[in-house]
Amino acid sequence: MTDKSADKPEKTRATRRLRKLRGSIAEKGLDGILISHLDNVRYLSGFTGSAAWLVVSEKEAVLATDFRYVEQARAESPDFSVIQTKRELRDWFPGLVSEMGIRKLGFEAGFVTYDSHSKLSEALGSADKHLEFVPTTGVIEHLRSIKEPEELTLITKAVELADAVFQQAQTIIRPGMTEKQAAWEIEKCYREAGSEGVAFEIIVASGPNAALPHAHPTERKIDSGEPVVIDMGARIGGYCSDLTRTVFLGGPDDAMQKVYDIVLKAQIAAIEGVRSGMEAAQADDLARSIIAQAGYGDNFGHGLGHGVGLAVHELPTVGPGSTGALSDGMVFTIEPGIYLPGQGGVRIEDIVVLENDRARILTTASKESSISTI
Ligand code: ZN
Ligand code: ZN
Repeated sequence: MTDKSADKPEKTRATRRLRKLRGSIAEKGLDGILISHLDNVRYLSGFTGSAAWLVVSEKEAVLATDFRYVEQARAESPDFSVIQTKRELRDWFPGLVSEMGIRKLGFEAGFVTYDSHSKLSEALGSADKHLEFVPTTGVIEHLRSIKEPEELTLITKAVELADAVFQQAQTIIRPGMTEKQAAWEIEKCYREAGSEGVAFEIIVASGPNAALPHAHPTERKIDSGEPVVIDMGARIGGYCSDLTRTVFLGGPDDAMQKVYDIVLKAQIAAIEGVRSGMEAAQADDLARSIIAQAGYGDNFGHGLGHGVGLAVHELPTVGPGSTGALSDGMVFTIEPGIYLPGQGGVRIEDIVVLENDRARILTTASKESSISTI
């Protein structure tokens, strides 16, 4: 097995990311790590298929995949030695690990099923009684939470695409149209604009359904004057965007306008007040305190935001119970909401990047609550 990554100058994306990973696993006292979560596999190797394992040690980086993906892996992951897996784990996995000189092998505890863990342990145990199989969490996810410039470029493109689709959506949604119809018309806009599908199932939630933070589009007909929460995102080069707007066909009534204004005020306060170095929970409180002071504290039941990247929900988590500080290079959403059961709800969501200690807002979609239906 040749080492294709350790001695080369740091030229490629994969060598740079492998260097960071090797720093993290050395800190944890591991000789190597097994990566099975596909977003993490893609992040490290560039491989976009649906089945692969990475085994990374101080000196080597191996991508193991089955017959279907060997050619694709060689093309997409030139910094990795690609090997073809055999049907039985014991026929290839213990040999690989011992050839790589690994005694303490980390694995992703959040993504290895009980069944896979049993099979891996059994295969490793039968080959080498001294090998330790060590659970880890968040190793790659922490690396992913700080975006590199090329990742930020892709996220920005995905944000721009969603912003453009929202502009189209404002001309598409009309009273009498069902939520499902509206969601499908919006989805077509994404595909026509070149998005790789949609980042997640589009939410169009009208009237009382707008009180459900993660509603699915239904056959309910959208009516004038009621809130319509639209939550959607594009995917470009594997990277997601995430955008929520709440609109009212023909404009909201006074009560809903008041709720809208509180959410918007809270959202802007968070965007303007968030700083690098701030605890994520403190960032959450920038918006939450405004909503609570207005008397709606119990109606904002989710966190302020989440990181966005290869996954639509990733680190950092920005919520009332979040631990850890925010730092430059993090890209995350700011999406406070107020949900009134049986009546409706308002959520406004933008994506920001922390740069030079402050949030730079990537989203440009209009925050005007009224849509003219004329
Ligand atoms: Zn969203
Ligand atoms: Zn979101």
